[in-house]
Formats: sequence, structure tokens, C-alpha cells
Amino acid sequence: MAPLLSVDEALARVLTRVVVLPSESVATERADGRVVACAVEALVDLPLFPSSSMDGYAVRAADTPGTLTVVDRVAAGRPTDRALKPGEAIGIATGGVVPECADAVVPIEELRDEGETVVIAQAVSARANIRDRGNDIAAGTTIARPGTTVSPPLLAALAASGVASVECARRPRVTVLTTGTELRAPGESLEPGQIYESNGAMLAALFEREGAVVTRLHPVADDEEAHNTAFGLALECDVLVTSGGVSVGPHDLVRRTLAAHGTEEVFWGVAMRPGKPLVFGVRGDTLVFGLPGNPVSSLVGAVLFVLPALRALQGRTVSGPVYRQGVLGAAVTPRPEREDFARARIEHRAGLDVLFPLSGQESHMIVAASAADALVRIPAGDAQLEEAATVDYLRFDGGPIGA
Ligand code: AMP
Ligand code: MG
Repeated sequence: MAPLLSVDEALARVLTRVVVLPSESVATERADGRVVACAVEALVDLPLFPSSSMDGYAVRAADTPGTLTVVDRVAAGRPTDRALKPGEAIGIATGGVVPECADAVVPIEELRDEGETVVIAQAVSARANIRDRGNDIAAGTTIARPGTTVSPPLLAALAASGVASVECARRPRVTVLTTGTELRAPGESLEPGQIYESNGAMLAALFEREGAVVTRLHPVADDEEAHNTAFGLALECDVLVTSGGVSVGPHDLVRRTLAAHGTEEVFWGVAMRPGKPLVFGVRGDTLVFGLPGNPVSSLVGAVLFVLPALRALQGRTVSGPVYRQGVLGAAVTPRPEREDFARARIEHRAGLDVLFPLSGQESHMIVAASAADALVRIPAGDAQLEEAATVDYLRFDGGPIGA
């Protein structure tokens, strides 16, 4: 194995090979999680007209305090043509159009309603309880810049501004291919030496959360012919992610098969634990990640390299992973030459994120890893990291990881 690349260098090499996917028009209501490709401008002023922020009476501020005659009522979506004359009030609901010549709204709670008249004891100031036209945004102003991920509030902002569709990067088409003669699907019966396949479901779920359209192929046995057939098919996508078969054993066929199919190997081996023998290559516009088969190695490799690539493919401004800072809840012993990505539990104490590495840090221990809510980055080194040392970590909180 050539000298191992650092995690940062390996990620940089991945990201330089990313070409942002072409865009497509997406209905605003379907755009949650999509990445905006072209700037979007508001089509209308928001609010579009001066409207009331309270249920009350539209008045002329100069008429207050005073007793005013109620001459009409306005509801949301039901304006009046009537301009307010001195001494008059018009009933108005929240969101109603403020009538001509009215310059304030007195909330119901602040007056006495006597049916034909309202008695206002206090003076109100001009513009009180009126939402001015355009005070949220003016038509033509940018609401979403390229590279922004649409969130539910942004989706509402787009809809409120009259935007029915948005140009967004196409979703990456990702193929997940697991390798290993020993793999069987949960639910099947196991022969001696066989195990349940678990990486496929995990990887597919991780990538779908990042906006990918995932195709899962059947696990491929560790024989050359099966690999050749499967990889021929599997490479027809934006991103191929395999698991297993990237170490140095006689049954590790992934690198050889990728080479036979014209894939340029960009690197093999990253100075990290778990997940060292990760391989990355490209064929045409297709990115290929060969993750090691141990489930936690596959998880960490996917989080550190595949998820950022998926974000970058969609043109996200920040592709991450974005580390947060916390402190160790217990001392840890680093590896001399590799960064360690330790699974940990977070406790929030006195404003700090305190990270407790879980027992069970071996790369096959997916059940132990599934209890983690953080992946803690322990730099390579010889000296023990003491309790309370500051460390970087990625959060596993059910949402996109490290985004
Ligand atoms: P490999 O990277 O192919 O040498 O596999 C390393 C370890 O991970 C072996 O114990 C495999 O049985 C296991 N493994 C490989 N692929 C999977 C998978 N898809 N699901 C669960 N375990 C796997
Ligand atoms: Mg294998």
C-alpha cells in the first residue's frame, strides 16, 4: 500500500473530481432538501398590500382617543372599496387590507365595542399594527442563492413570494453494491459461515438523506466473473459505492475489477481508523467509492467522503463535513499514525458538549456504533488525550450527518 493519505487530503482529492450535476426545474412544494442552482427572486412584494397584524378596527390615528362610527368590516381576502373618513372606524381581521385613509389599527382588546360605535380610550400612533407593503421583501429581491439547500421555511418563503418552481441540481443517481460470498439478506436462512448483509441498507439510507436516488444491487459473490458482470452494470450512474473487497486478501477483487472496467484509481488507503483501505476512483463522470466491508468502516467512509461528494455534486455551498467542538468525557489513547473516528455519546453539561467514547470501538461492532450520537475525531499522536481535552466531532442526530 502506498503511503496513506490524510483524511483532509483524501477529501480534497475527492472534491476536486466532482463536477456539479446539471439542474432541472422542481416544483417548489417538492423542493425540500434540494439544492438551488440559479438565484431565485421574489415575484411579488411581501406583504403585497398594507395589512392588519391584529383583529381590531382600522382608524385614523389622529381621531384617537375618541368614539368612532363603525361603517364597514374587512376580512382576510375581502377588502373594502370604502375610504375611511374622519370619525369612522372599519372592523378588520388579521391579514385584511387596510382601507384607504386609515393609518392605524386598534386591537379589539384595546377598545370598547358598542356595536355601532367603538370607544378608544388611548391615543394610538400612526402605523400601529399595520404591516407595510414590502416590509418582508420587495419583488425582485433574491430569496435563495445558488448552493442553498431548500428547508421547510425557505420553501414557504418561495411559495409566499409567488415562486412555483425552482431550478435545482439533479439528484445524484447512486448505486450501492455490496460484495461478499458470505452475505445473505435478513430473513433468509444462514448456512455455516454466512452472515446477514447490513451495509447496503445503511448506505442507501445515508445517501437518500443527502438527496440521492439510490439503486441497490444484489450482493455480489467474491468471484471474478460475478464481479465483472455486476460492476459493468453498476458503473452506469453518477456515484458507485461498493462495500467490502478492498483489502489485500486473495478474495478482494474490487480494485482489480474497477481497473478492468476503465476506472482510474485516484487513491487507495487513508490514514484513519476505521476504514483505512478505502479506495476512490473515477470513470468518466462517475465517482467510485470502494468502502471496506466492516460495517463501521463503511459507515465512517461514507460519512467522511461520500456524503460530502453528494453535497458537492448538488452544488451545495458547504459540502462538509462540518465539525463541531466538544470536550472529551474520558481520556483516550490516540493511534500513532492514523486519525481515529471514535463513536461516542454526547452529554450536554454546563454549555459544553461532553463526548464519552462508547465501549466497543472495533470496526465490526455496528450494534455498539448504532448507540452513538457522535463521531469524535481523535488526531494521530503518541500522547494520551486527557479528559476535558477539546476535540472535533460530527453529530449523528437522525438528520444529515456533518452537513
Ligand atoms: P471485507 O472488507 O470484504 O474484507 O469484509 C470485512 C468484514 O466485513 C468481513 O467480516 C465481512 O464479512 C464483513 N462484511 C463485508 N460486507 C458486509 C456487509 N455488506 N454487511 C455486513 N458485513 C459485511
Ligand atoms: Mg469481503
